[in-house]
Amino acid sequence: MTEPGGIAGTATIVADIAIVGGGLAGSLAAAVLARAGHRVALVDKRAVHPDEFRVEKIGGQQLEMFRKLGFLKALENVACRYDRVLNIREGKVVDVSVGQAYGFSYANLVAMARSQLPDLSSLIVDEVTAISCSDDVQHIELASGKRLDARLVVLATGMASALGYKLGIRRRVLAERHSVSFGFTIARKDGAPFDFEALTCYGERTADGIDYLSLFPMPSGMRANLFMFRDPTDPIMRELRREPEATVLRLLPGLWPYLGDFRVTDKVQNWVMDLTVVEGHLQPGIVLIGDAFQTNCPAAGTGVARLLVDVDRLCTEYAPRWLASAGMGTEKISQFYSDPDKVAADQRSLKMAHFRQALTSRSDIGWDVRRRLHFLRRSLTHRVDQMHPGWLGRVRGALRA
Ligand SMILES: Cc1cc2nc3c(=O)[nH]c(=O)nc-3n(C[C@H](O)[C@H](O)[C@H](O)COP(=O)(O)OP(=O)(O)OC[C@H]3O[C@@H](n4cnc5c(N)ncnc54)[C@H](O)[C@@H]3O)c2cc1C
Repeated sequence: MTEPGGIAGTATIVADIAIVGGGLAGSLAAAVLARAGHRVALVDKRAVHPDEFRVEKIGGQQLEMFRKLGFLKALENVACRYDRVLNIREGKVVDVSVGQAYGFSYANLVAMARSQLPDLSSLIVDEVTAISCSDDVQHIELASGKRLDARLVVLATGMASALGYKLGIRRRVLAERHSVSFGFTIARKDGAPFDFEALTCYGERTADGIDYLSLFPMPSGMRANLFMFRDPTDPIMRELRREPEATVLRLLPGLWPYLGDFRVTDKVQNWVMDLTVVEGHLQPGIVLIGDAFQTNCPAAGTGVARLLVDVDRLCTEYAPRWLASAGMGTEKISQFYSDPDKVAADQRSLKMAHFRQALTSRSDIGWDVRRRLHFLRRSLTHRVDQMHPGWLGRVRGALRA
């Protein structure tokens, strides 16, 4: 175990802020706070984040936030950049998304975030077993027997609930087994590269419950993320794990002309997601961020956007202000939970989760019409854009002015 600068050898480690959980949220928060000169202790039970299936691509607004927080250059070093995504449905082109995006393994992303700590000895590899909080100093017990005191605890333990539970923080399940995600890497059998930079293939039939299959480059090859809204006990789940190539083509026959003969080159990973949000979290001295506060639907792709808003608002605005005066009561902590940007990001994440599920699998007439209009609007926009490049953008700009 390492200890934050200048305090090695003491039985109790002392810091301004103790961050429990060094996944993406905790590690980025630690780097932002430490760069601003705060004494930070980041505690994670694992020295290296394991190869778990989590977010593997980001783009758009998420990149703006990475840039704002000063992590974009470091992200570029562990990721593959791509700029064009071909979007297809039933074998036909819907449209093409243009814009900077990156593919990476989550373990490498977390390693990148941890490497941004100005002093790497701020990372303590240990398991937090108990936390006791008050208006003043917070006490943390570690499995090694060491103790950590801090004025503020940031709980960033992801979907692990044990520590929060001990503090009376409960997870309310909003949608049990809301979605199922699969992740695997593919290559063409002839060894040639694929003809596309990145590709998204949308589901063809509501009964299949397939939202989309996303193919994008990451340093280890062409990665596939398949997002579904379907009973996780359905036999199709086992078929996807055992015979991914044949099952994917059976579910998405329109993919064949784009993929040709391909094989899956690594283990098929999968994840069943419950949508949850915490209750009883407004307590003195402790604040929850990232998945520790609310989980997200992987198909909606909002988890990173949410956690970046958490990191930005907490670490650049509230925590520095709270530390500047005595006490760490709930009147301070509640400012973060009621921050308009945070509340909007949390609500948007839940709204998108329900929208994606309905757009994928609702078969009533209202959603059937909405689905048709959704794809029709996209493909018409794409055709107009092909015939008159830039024209639609100018019209939209004029309407906004
Ligand atoms: C399959 C899947 C696909 C996804 N795809 C997308 C996507 O495409 N786009 C998107 O935006 N989001 C996506 N997400 C969501 C995104 O991955 C998460 O929102 C994000 O990883 C959460 O990060 P976190 O830091 O909050 O939690 P985590 O990364 O889970 O970190 C929690 C950390 O806490 C540590 N910890 C826990 N308990 C203790 C303890 N007692 N002591 C010490 N350490 C502890 C753990 O070791 C871990 O390192 C996906 C999620 C899943 C599951």
